[in-house]
Amino acid sequence: MNDALTIGFYGAAAEVTGSRHLISAAGSRVLLDCGMFQGHRRETLDKNRSFPFPPENLQAVVLSHAHVDHSGALPLLYKKGAQAPLWCTPVTQELTALMLLDSARIQESDARFFNKIHAADGQRITPLYSEDDVRHCLGHLRARDFGASLEAAGGITASFASAGHVLGSAMVLLDVSVPGGRRRILFTGDLGRRQSLLLQPPIPPQGADYLLIESTYGGRSHAPLGDLAGAFAAVVRRAIADKGKILIPSFALERTQEIVFMLEKLRREHGIPPIPLYVDSPMAVEITNIFNRHLADSGFSPAFKDYTAKAGDPFGMDSVHYVRTKEESQALNDLPGPMIILSASGMCEGGRILHHLRNNINKETTTVLLVGHQAEGTLGRHLQDGAKKVKIFGLEHEVLAKVETMHAFSSHADKDDLLAFIAALDPKPRAIFLVHGDPDQRGALAQSLQAAGIKGVVCPKFGQVVTLD
Ligand SMILES: [Zn+2]
Repeated sequence: MNDALTIGFYGAAAEVTGSRHLISAAGSRVLLDCGMFQGHRRETLDKNRSFPFPPENLQAVVLSHAHVDHSGALPLLYKKGAQAPLWCTPVTQELTALMLLDSARIQESDARFFNKIHAADGQRITPLYSEDDVRHCLGHLRARDFGASLEAAGGITASFASAGHVLGSAMVLLDVSVPGGRRRILFTGDLGRRQSLLLQPPIPPQGADYLLIESTYGGRSHAPLGDLAGAFAAVVRRAIADKGKILIPSFALERTQEIVFMLEKLRREHGIPPIPLYVDSPMAVEITNIFNRHLADSGFSPAFKDYTAKAGDPFGMDSVHYVRTKEESQALNDLPGPMIILSASGMCEGGRILHHLRNNINKETTTVLLVGHQAEGTLGRHLQDGAKKVKIFGLEHEVLAKVETMHAFSSHADKDDLLAFIAALDPKPRAIFLVHGDPDQRGALAQSLQAAGIKGVVCPKFGQVVTLD
């Protein structure tokens, strides 16, 4: 048996999805995250279907947060024989159940649709897992609060520190016994910003010998949050004057709650006239309920808690229309503007937002407001790039709507946040592994770190196993 302490990088290495890192020491194996790879279909399916380590040999799985690029392959891991407890924070436990069940439903309906249109040519896809597989996996979930330590495996203890990325998101600290001592590994998971609308910024935990840090925006600086309120208010006032609809494609977790909160604040503090706001995503409704149940959590920023203590009800459960059924969603088509509709998916790749776009994109009074990253090749990106015509459900539509982008929304640390995080570590780790970043972004961060005189920066490749001394 190999007694050495090693890290195997089995995902989110030179890319942003499929976060999976395997820590091994003296016969103990702990897996950090088990995310789904997202991207071009064939290659991703192959990568998602196999694990380069035996799932049944794991003693623990530790999950940083609920996003599917960190959690989305867990049901498959347990379907393929994993027995280990699956540790996360209490909020992540609730959110992960929702996200994974939703992921199974999407895969099942995608497969049905794909197989139907390919009935003649015989091509078939099968979902990675079913809702039953998700329920089996959820049975292994164990929650631990921030700061409380847990025995992950023989000689390896783990604890969580708040990462400030989405509610419940954690950095993972592993203390590993090695001959003659102990090594501390800090895995940031996805790291939040120093300034956030809702969340407490992450506080860098000290004493790490080795750091695994994300690098999604390792080469980019986000616009300051302070500019948002004015820009948002201007868009809302224009829609009110034009009696238009503002369509906001939005991720159900965190981004939707941020926008609802910002609009509530604008209404109460900046005197923008009332405008009906519809949150048209059953997932977003459920997630907002989870946020509401955890308003007293330490993860929220003092400013947000202060606001909630004074004004109450930050997500406007009394004034915002939370839309659940398909019928309620369709009924929005016949209602006149002005109104704001927040709906998934965030990059206009599926979901109810497509129906709202189809019905409103050819109207000059419509505003499409993009508040999240729009990946290459998505409908959201085409709109952002100024396309005059777009295809929705295979039919061409003329774009007469105004399309605006607000870059200041991001739940990821930018280059300056990442550099500040590492600068605050004293002493510096022996090695810093840059993960969860496309090659250009993590390359840029590596260069900035080297320029700042930081030593031991490593950009691991997919499948690489590194021995730590
Ligand atoms: Zn994330």
